[in-house]
Amino acid sequence: MNRPTDHHRPTDRYRELAARYGTPLYVYDLDRIAEGHRALADSVPEGIELYYALKANPHPEVARALREGSDRPCRAEISSTGELDAALAAGYEAGECLYTGPGKTPAELEYALGRGVRMFSVESYTDLQHVGAAALRLGAVARCLLRINSAGTKAATTGIRMMGKPSQFGIDSETLPELMPLLTSVPGTEVVGAHFFTMSNAVDEAGLVGEFERTVRDAVRLAEEVGLPLEFLDIGGGFSSPYAVPGERAEYPKLAAELERILDLHLPRWRTGTPHLAVESGRYLVGGGGFMLSGVVNVKDSRGNRFVILDAGINTLGGLSGLGRLLPAAVQLDGEEPQDVASLVGPLCTPGDSLGRNVRLPLLEPGDVIVVPNVGAYGVSASLLGFLSRPAPVEVVLRGDEVVSATRLEFTRAEAPAVEVR
Ligand SMILES: *Cc1c(COP(=O)(O)O)cnc(C)c1O
Repeated sequence: MNRPTDHHRPTDRYRELAARYGTPLYVYDLDRIAEGHRALADSVPEGIELYYALKANPHPEVARALREGSDRPCRAEISSTGELDAALAAGYEAGECLYTGPGKTPAELEYALGRGVRMFSVESYTDLQHVGAAALRLGAVARCLLRINSAGTKAATTGIRMMGKPSQFGIDSETLPELMPLLTSVPGTEVVGAHFFTMSNAVDEAGLVGEFERTVRDAVRLAEEVGLPLEFLDIGGGFSSPYAVPGERAEYPKLAAELERILDLHLPRWRTGTPHLAVESGRYLVGGGGFMLSGVVNVKDSRGNRFVILDAGINTLGGLSGLGRLLPAAVQLDGEEPQDVASLVGPLCTPGDSLGRNVRLPLLEPGDVIVVPNVGAYGVSASLLGFLSRPAPVEVVLRGDEVVSATRLEFTRAEAPAVEVR
């Protein structure tokens, strides 16, 4: 199929979808999501579980595609009742979910345990106590991974000391000698392993390999020194994929062999499931499978600068721009060479509604449709959907040329029942 990433412009098929459903419009291509899934499965040795971080895109058809239709079905990494509901709606079983996050409330913990979730990543002693208290109320035992904020080790090759930073995530590893006896005796919980997530969007394969090696070494060292349980070890992720700019996801031709080498060296019984291993990814699995189509509403010159005003702003894409995240840097139409430099802005009444400054563009006029590739992850889910009260974009799911679904998130104001105080 002729895909928009080939040209950074809408194909006839995408133009037709934009005409049928209107813009702004997200298109998720399940064939491309399957490619991301296969690429991750090929990069990670068999026997290591793949977790899909629903934060990247909780759309049920997207999440479902990653569980079905592969001999390496993903499990679900979730962090809210909404993500749990999305995972269950997509066919994941509660037992396939890992519940993470630094601020798990008693109510959401009870909800999750009530739906059958038994695996939690905990980020502090008190977080573990909250999980335990909720489990006791439900007569359950929660299997917990201690998320570790590693103080770092002296890298053997470079001698550079990597210090852990203060963070709301994870338990400072240097506090484990003191904490371990407490952590292993919280009623309602059983600490079964560790969770590391030290990096997102690694710059290259060597960086990713180095980070995994450091993580595995840290885990083994903590097991030996403080008795960190290692029945289950989640070594995190960092698999890289472009965001809202043209390009392909990173390739990791050596990673599988390197991981096998690292694991054989440090955890010689990993091939028989001791420990049980997992990695996590959001953007690598689904980033390349999503496109956003947006209509040009107006083109305006102001004091020598051109503004292309779109019907999609940070309410539709790029809500994380306050964090300095990359925004679209390239848009082309009809294979034209870029002839213009302009700011791409959205329709919201805030100067912060910018999708790109000094972007090289073809000459655009009202009614044109542009396409932004690589927004299958952190597109709709990371946007300021409620800001300025515009409708959420339609999300169309394609398998081949067939439309599997076309839906839109709806917000309605409903009566809020008073919360029961415990
Ligand atoms: C956000 C997150 C992920 C996914 O990150 P990507 O960069 O999209 O792969 C995985 N695990 C945890 C714990 C996360 O917070």
